[in-house]
Amino acid sequence: MKHRTDILRIWDNPQAEEIGDSVEEFLTLLGGPTWINIPGKDPSRSRAIVTLLHGNEPSGIRAMHRWLQIGTKPQVNMACFIGAIDAALAPPGFAYRTLPGRKDLNRCFREPFDSAEGQVAKDVLQRLTNLKPEALIDLHNTSGRSPCYTISTQNSDKQQSLTALFSNQLVITDLRLGSLMEATEFEIPTIAVECGGNHDPQSDRIALEGLTRFMQTDTLFPSGQVHPDVLIFEHPIRVELREGATVAYASIPDEEADCTFRFDADKLNFDMLHPGDPVGWVGPRKLGLFLARDAQGNNRIEELFTVVNGELHLAQTGRILMMTTDPIMASSDCLFYFLPCADR
Ligand SMILES: [Zn+2]
Repeated sequence: MKHRTDILRIWDNPQAEEIGDSVEEFLTLLGGPTWINIPGKDPSRSRAIVTLLHGNEPSGIRAMHRWLQIGTKPQVNMACFIGAIDAALAPPGFAYRTLPGRKDLNRCFREPFDSAEGQVAKDVLQRLTNLKPEALIDLHNTSGRSPCYTISTQNSDKQQSLTALFSNQLVITDLRLGSLMEATEFEIPTIAVECGGNHDPQSDRIALEGLTRFMQTDTLFPSGQVHPDVLIFEHPIRVELREGATVAYASIPDEEADCTFRFDADKLNFDMLHPGDPVGWVGPRKLGLFLARDAQGNNRIEELFTVVNGELHLAQTGRILMMTTDPIMASSDCLFYFLPCADR
């Protein structure tokens, strides 16, 4: 049964025959930000899933559509929120993180909730607070190639148990950007899952398998359960272009751009890198092009990189995360994150 509030569409207990044959058809049927309720075997408990906060990250919604097609009853009641449907549907499909001129929904989960996206975020937070789910999973993709990992603001057994449903790599961040997990962390064990690159079929498989475990497991947090196999990475630093600076992705330095990264720079994601390893090229503005902010707001760029004959080299051991090769993504969000090495 479907109905609408001022802000969200609500769909209770959608049936396999009602959801369309393709994920695109499903999204068209939803038509806008939607909250779906699926009754479980144990209706006294609930869990929550959020996906498509970014319109170019399809693995989570594909997994959810597939799950609904299969029609298995989840272990407990499930609440699912699907966000940037209009961005996902804009031609050619799953191409826009947000629509031009609109705000990034996953930066709007904090005050002031004064934009259209902020109103959606506020409503979703209110519903989650009322529901008190056992756990919340927020499914994403990276825009470059990447192995799967999860992100949380908290590092407890619960975040590790949730991570193990999808991956064995958990990134703990103390950066505060206005994302969903920052808003729910104190009340609900929450992880964001980066299922892998948004064009990689493996990411879709990981999302479906992890989602299936999340929905079918009776006890998410068995007492005494530990996860020695989950690797913890702490405190990524966000590397951005300064206002007005430009980036290109190519196999040689692009004279027109302030900096150039290799067209396949996303191959670096999650690899261990060492001092002296080249990651790109910079023009005359050198490191002045970049801001590398840690959680305290310090610019750490001089510690992380050096410039040698126009080449950008790493100055310390660590890993790059979320390296994109899309200049629009790089300018509108960030170039990548850097994880100083703690797992020697
Ligand atoms: Zn995302």
